[in-house]
Amino acid sequence: MEHAEIHVIGGGLGGLAAAAFVARSGHSVVVHERRRRLGGRATTDERHGYRFNQGPHALYTGGDAIRILDELRISPRGSAPPTGNARMVAGGDLYLAPGGPGSLLRTRIIGARDKVELASLMARLPRLTPQTFADRTVNEWLDDLTDRVQVRALLQAIVRLATYTNDPDRLSAEVGIQQVQLALGSGVRYLDGGWERLVDELAGVVTASGGVIRRDDGTNALPDAAAVIVAVGGPVQTASVTGHPYPPGVSAEVAVLDLALTRAPAHRFVIGVDEPIYLSDHGSVDGMCPRGRASVSLAQYLTPGEAPERGRLEAFARHAGIVSGDIVDERYLHRMTTVSAIATAASGGLTGRPSVVVPDRAGVYVVGDWVGPRGHLADAVLASARAAASAAVTHLSTLRRVP
Ligand SMILES: Cc1cc2nc3c(=O)[nH]c(=O)nc-3n(C[C@H](O)[C@H](O)[C@H](O)COP(=O)(O)OP(=O)(O)OC[C@H]3O[C@@H](n4cnc5c(N)ncnc54)[C@H](O)[C@@H]3O)c2cc1C
Repeated sequence: MEHAEIHVIGGGLGGLAAAAFVARSGHSVVVHERRRRLGGRATTDERHGYRFNQGPHALYTGGDAIRILDELRISPRGSAPPTGNARMVAGGDLYLAPGGPGSLLRTRIIGARDKVELASLMARLPRLTPQTFADRTVNEWLDDLTDRVQVRALLQAIVRLATYTNDPDRLSAEVGIQQVQLALGSGVRYLDGGWERLVDELAGVVTASGGVIRRDDGTNALPDAAAVIVAVGGPVQTASVTGHPYPPGVSAEVAVLDLALTRAPAHRFVIGVDEPIYLSDHGSVDGMCPRGRASVSLAQYLTPGEAPERGRLEAFARHAGIVSGDIVDERYLHRMTTVSAIATAASGGLTGRPSVVVPDRAGVYVVGDWVGPRGHLADAVLASARAAASAAVTHLSTLRRVP
């Protein structure tokens, strides 16, 4: 395997998916993962019988990731989030979230004229073509959409939730619209047992198809191989391995508080409107908590450079009816990168992201949430993984044709 045709550096979702496609095409492949544990940001930690992802994770049912996993015969099992009776927090008060016509009528979070405006905007949203908004920021798009302050604030909270990004002055509206369409369309799935099951299944495809996975095997140099796929996370890490000067871009980050609870919270899905915080019961899917118990994840969407504040997350948990006696364990992750480099309006949205093909490095390809013209979050990771694997395999066949 030292002489495998294709080497993959990085054993997160991206590297494993790329290796799975290569191995299934019949080529020899070896994955080099720096850590002992595979999975990167898609790992799931077990603590006292509770399982926590690296922050709240949801797979977009209508996105590329699920289609690409299906090509590898992986069907991630899980359930929809508990959004029935969702709540929103505005001005420190808790309201019914306007998630559908009934709750829109009943909620007191906005007045009658705002409700008419919101209903009309939500009806138009699914028909928008995200690509036509690629060079507009989320804020520019929202400014054009409505001058009703409360409606705008609600839409901004929904965009934040669907993109895991709190940078409306830079994020391309293409991404905002695309993610909201996915979230409100076919929705999302919380995965049974956590995202690490996906990691295990991808690793299983790699090894069952003859690929080799080496852990504790970090490398900052390109191996001498016919083709190399670099899937080490963000552009900074990728630049140091490939030697290509990828600009660092602007990352999206969150602070995360996971709470292991003795009982289900009174409110299982709570979104902050003027506070960029979200809480959801991630423990209700199979295999995430001991029977009869519950767990929630809270995320504070950080603006660039903003300091995380654990106290705000703890205070927000009280909106869900959680009191200190309910909490049996907690885990705080003060800064997690949800997106290594967001697709900005200034760089033209998704098509402005770097290609999987590394310029000036024949046979070297890159994978990540900041690569390629398709998708956001794990959708981008898996779309770029499949594209990189296909480009690397094509590269091998061109090498073979050279006498
Ligand atoms: C809080 C949070 C919430 C999220 N929520 C969602 C969500 O709801 N939906 C969604 O689709 N996505 C979500 N994501 C994003 C998703 O987790 C990531 O897009 C995905 O896991 C990234 O996979 P990756 O393989 O590109 O990178 P990573 O997971 O970062 O993996 C990179 C791997 O490369 C290894 N590595 C690095 N350098 C080297 C080296 N030199 N040599 C060898 N190995 C190396 C690392 O150890 C790591 O294992 C979320 C992320 C976070 C943090």
